[in-house]
Amino acid sequence: MTKDWKTRTKLVHEGIRRSQYGEMAEAIFLTQGFAYDSAEAAEARFIKAGEDEFIYARYGNPTTRMFEDRIAALEGTEDAFATASGMAAVNGALVSMLKAGDHVVSARALFGSCLYILEEVLGRFGVRVTFVDGADLAQWEKAVIPGTKAVFFESMSNPTLELVDIRAVSAIAHSVGATVIVDNVFATPVFSRAVEQGADVVVYSTTKHIDGQGRALGGVICGTRDFIRKVAEPYMKHTGGSMSPFTAWMHLNGLATLDLRCRAMADSAARIAEALEGHPNVAKVIYPGLASHPQHALAMAQMGSGGTLVSFEVAGGKDAAFRFLNALTIASISNNLGDAKTIATHPATTTHQRLPQEMKDALGISPGLIRLSVGLEDTDDLIADLTQALAAA
Ligand SMILES: *Cc1c(COP(=O)(O)O)cnc(C)c1O
Repeated sequence: MTKDWKTRTKLVHEGIRRSQYGEMAEAIFLTQGFAYDSAEAAEARFIKAGEDEFIYARYGNPTTRMFEDRIAALEGTEDAFATASGMAAVNGALVSMLKAGDHVVSARALFGSCLYILEEVLGRFGVRVTFVDGADLAQWEKAVIPGTKAVFFESMSNPTLELVDIRAVSAIAHSVGATVIVDNVFATPVFSRAVEQGADVVVYSTTKHIDGQGRALGGVICGTRDFIRKVAEPYMKHTGGSMSPFTAWMHLNGLATLDLRCRAMADSAARIAEALEGHPNVAKVIYPGLASHPQHALAMAQMGSGGTLVSFEVAGGKDAAFRFLNALTIASISNNLGDAKTIATHPATTTHQRLPQEMKDALGISPGLIRLSVGLEDTDDLIADLTQALAAA
């Protein structure tokens, strides 16, 4: 249903399937199966299901399909497949297209579970993975060789908000015919132009900004119709990682306000980053929207925004960081992101606790580092809360 609509219109209307009742809100088809009018109709559907014909919820469901169509329209891809979690999407995008003997190049700074798939799972099945420093194009140039099947990276890394140049890495990958798979969670689908910049497949943990209210786990793989329906879908539907219709229904409601939410969060994040920069109890602020970020120009070209997360180092190391966290009154200590509620995370002792110290050092995960996912509260209230907590640090 690709129409000439702008983002906000797509986010409200794209993909809608109305039943015979003409309901205004998207219906939730909480059904695992579908009845056929006749034995012949069942046989025909199993030979080839039409556009609006469903067989079994693991294969597809009208509510889930509405979500897939809406997110594909937003991302600018031909199609999408909704998954049970962000990790099901990452695993599905990679494993569905790889086989023993293949070579993959990946950025080293990865979400912990992504690292597990690339380091442990793929290796166990005979896929060779070369890790590079994602921001260093020379390393990509050297690692991507004739025969490389895929490259994988997070377009903005967690928790140090380092960017990978999608356009440049895609050009390197495409010169040898490799598929570019981007985990775009931190960029958000609102600020993403990954496909326009060369990515072939974009994956999201929809648990984050898309749900936006910390309710449900979900994920999505976006790509060409051939990749989604001939490569990703067969793997996903037969291995069981499909999204529940209930989650798809919540995500549809999340998408309607996604643009407004991400922009409000990013505006707030920018003001918070400015307020923190130069604060005597803050050793360093990392926010791609700040001129002081080493990749500020790339962030503006690639996303047109600094995003919704701010990372910063509390002066005084772990003890000071803990005093800061414990003094917060609005922000919660937790580890989700993209939520309406502001969330503060101490990566060194939680999300990245298990990394060896030399890896933490290499990735810049210092004892004082805080990752702040900026929510939808009033910016002045947030700044006041952060400021009083910093005084307590
Ligand atoms: C959260 C996250 C994931 C995993 O998503 P889940 O929905 O938790 O499975 C993958 N990549 C990135 C960058 C994430 O932030």
